Amino acid sequence: MRNIVVLAPHPDDEILGCTSVLKNHAESNLWVILVTNGDCFGKVSSEIRMKESQQALSLLNIPKDNIIVLGFGDTGMNLKESFLYRLFYSDPNTVIKSNVSAHTYHPIDGEQEWYYQKMHKHAQYTRHDFLHSLITVLEYCKPDEIYVSSQYDKHGDHRALYWFLLETLAQLNLSVIIKQYIIHGGNDKRWPKRNKDDFSKPPCCNDKLWHNRIISNEFDPEEKYKLINIFQSQITTSGYLLSFAKRTEFFLQEQSENSILRTPWISWKRIKNFYSKAPFIVYLALCSKAQRLCSLY
Ligand SMILES: [Zn+2]
Repeated sequence: MRNIVVLAPHPDDEILGCTSVLKNHAESNLWVILVTNGDCFGKVSSEIRMKESQQALSLLNIPKDNIIVLGFGDTGMNLKESFLYRLFYSDPNTVIKSNVSAHTYHPIDGEQEWYYQKMHKHAQYTRHDFLHSLITVLEYCKPDEIYVSSQYDKHGDHRALYWFLLETLAQLNLSVIIKQYIIHGGNDKRWPKRNKDDFSKPPCCNDKLWHNRIISNEFDPEEKYKLINIFQSQITTSGYLLSFAKRTEFFLQEQSENSILRTPWISWKRIKNFYSKAPFIVYLALCSKAQRLCSLY
């Protein structure tokens, strides 16, 4: 049996992007990992949102034990506001607070997030504890295939989750098939197109990626519409959320080891490394200059 993981930055992304995967899980072991609590607008709305997600997943016969809540914060979509984006570029032990908390929690009373289940305490909102959560959960699920929000997605949490995933896979030395789904394609007022049966190319996607996409139609769009409609706390008059109920879903596919070199994590670490050594290099240069000056006299 194949092990499949659907990584959702917020409760609802799993339904918007991966209903076809969730619908057809009978032949595999499937886990849904809800990374943030979606608590951008507070704890009360987050509890409602989490319950909506649980309800939708139960209709797809996903066992409750296979829904894992990591319990991190959600502070907005723009890169400067986004919790995961800021966490990605932070130092390992710097706490990035959300509007609600400085540590992980399960928004539904009486239920526990992943870190608390394993460590009997909450994880701090730090890069270190986030990676610990992601590493341990992937060690537990041992995925062959991971569905994750795309690196091209315009939501900071969605994009940074993909980068964190690659960093985690590199640390675990795991090679898996990664399929990326796009939720915020570049202009939420225009994409996904409201009255079309199929997805058009999102503005954030280049022609080559779009041409090579994988298309799935193994689900009933009417059923997907009903599942999305459960998320009443997220539905607005813009028609954005329900416009994901199309005849097909699409995924961008890359093998993990081909992607790792292109993450900002690698270049960021290189730059950081260089600058951390810079004073030493300047010191050496000054020493050799001084030595040359001394040898002249
Ligand atoms: Zn999201």
